[in-house]
Amino acid sequence: MRFVLTGSGASRGMALGRARLEHPNRYLVDDRPLPEHEVDAEIERLKRALEIAREELAILRDKLHGSMAREVAEFIDAHSLMLADRELTTGIFELIRVGRYRASAALNLQRDRLVAVFESMDDPYLRSRKEDVEHVIARVQAGLQRESSSEERKLASRVGQILVSDSVAPSELVPLAENGVLGVVLSSGSRVSHGAILARSLRLPMIVAAHDALLTIHDDDLILIDGEAGEIIVHPASTDLARYRAWQRETQQRSKQLALLADRDTRTRDDVPIALYANAESSVDIAQARASGAAGVGLYRTEFLFLQRRELPGEEEQFHAYRELVLGMGGLPVTIRTLDLGADKADSSGLVLDDEENPALGVRGVRLSLRHPQLMRTQLRAALRASAYGPLRILVPMVCAAEEMAQMRALLRDCARDLRSAGHEIAENVELGAMIEVPAAAIALPTMIRQLDFVAIGTNDLVQYTLAVDRNNDHLANLYDPLHPAVLKLLAQTIATAQRAGKRVSLCGEMAGDRRYTALLLALGLTDFSMHPGALLEVREQLATLDRGALRKHAAALLRAPTRARIEAVLARMATSSP
Ligand code: PEP
Ligand code: MG
Repeated sequence: MRFVLTGSGASRGMALGRARLEHPNRYLVDDRPLPEHEVDAEIERLKRALEIAREELAILRDKLHGSMAREVAEFIDAHSLMLADRELTTGIFELIRVGRYRASAALNLQRDRLVAVFESMDDPYLRSRKEDVEHVIARVQAGLQRESSSEERKLASRVGQILVSDSVAPSELVPLAENGVLGVVLSSGSRVSHGAILARSLRLPMIVAAHDALLTIHDDDLILIDGEAGEIIVHPASTDLARYRAWQRETQQRSKQLALLADRDTRTRDDVPIALYANAESSVDIAQARASGAAGVGLYRTEFLFLQRRELPGEEEQFHAYRELVLGMGGLPVTIRTLDLGADKADSSGLVLDDEENPALGVRGVRLSLRHPQLMRTQLRAALRASAYGPLRILVPMVCAAEEMAQMRALLRDCARDLRSAGHEIAENVELGAMIEVPAAAIALPTMIRQLDFVAIGTNDLVQYTLAVDRNNDHLANLYDPLHPAVLKLLAQTIATAQRAGKRVSLCGEMAGDRRYTALLLALGLTDFSMHPGALLEVREQLATLDRGALRKHAAALLRAPTRARIEAVLARMATSSP
């Protein structure tokens, strides 16, 4: 009964809910041959499922009333007759007994045979009866999946749903959360995918790379998920439910404890001030950023505004969104990133090329923006107009050459000039910065830095492109390693180059909010972090325990270490020098 599946925790939090399989019919069929000693049990399963299906039809029939009751009853009677038809059921039992098919596979085989018979009929009415066969078989398939105890069914009927699917597009997550879905389990995916980033922003617990989820979880199973541990408990026992309640209590206590840090300055143990910015995707993020005492918004992913849309939002709509962000932050600086569509953020606007063989290396980010200057003008004008309401800066994604920044700057200058001559109030100076997330940009930064007002390091992509490891591919999760020597080298160089040039440099990839990397990033010289606002107070708490001066002394050893094991050894030494 009770069993545990593991995946990778992608968005923390626990949730108890009924499993809802995204494509149940696609996954129900178990094609493995049936061993002889399981034949009788499988026949019993099928008998039970047939019984459930019959009962359901009888209940449905009893409930009928109103003007269409008679017609509907005829359909139900036809379905009940089919279920009683020995021709249909004997065939399925034979497939199990002789053909050694499992019940679900036998049902589908029998369905396909009958459908083929109906389809070959000349009479269109009889031909259309194949749908009845499909409905009846689907009802029995559903009956096969209902193996939970009646007590569990009672509990499951009171809780919300947890989506179980192979993958989910970022654009599908918002409506899921709005419709009360409590959590998501995916059989593929990774924790740095945009789906996972958005799930964190929506506070939707998510587990990715749970490879067996679709094979072993059934619709309506009661499941308990732990988005931090990456654990899915199917048919949880009372001890699991007790753990869930304890987790709820602890979370409440912990957030009360962390809330005490909300209006503290962020300083290391040796009193070095650190700036903690928020990555904000939604108004909830903005509110949490303020409530946690963020220094501002270090990354506002504007493409998330665009994901749900057929058409791209116009200047007015974008202006209102950006102004709301600026006003929401009450005078603290906000960083608006220009459109980063492409790769896994493909939208429905038709701008993203969908026939690219290699979208991660394709027309995305600034490349897409520069091919659609009108689109960029609209966005830059909206951002510039919002700059009248508070400090705002503009960040350009996927930069890999100085020319791209020169073109973006020229566009920004044109837009500012046009707006001013049309009488719009805009800020005197709006800073323009580049994301450093392509190795070429990191390597060439010394030649480009003069052109930039600030720099933001995007480690999610920098790790992907440096190591040639797709950030969304769960089969390569062990190779997607932020501690690779090449990554550390690029991080250290980027931070140092920007600081030498007197330019602010922040890090806004997922590493920034991951406390396992806080000491490392301090050692490499970072002082500006930008992270999911939910992580901010914990990182502030962690920073207060770390001695930046002591950690900096380990930078050279970190950068000399040739393997991950040696890097971890240096990190362990750092932990003792700055406990
Ligand atoms: C990054 O690449 O690190 C980043 C912050 O941007 P995104 O995750 O949106 O690609
Ligand atoms: Mg990126």
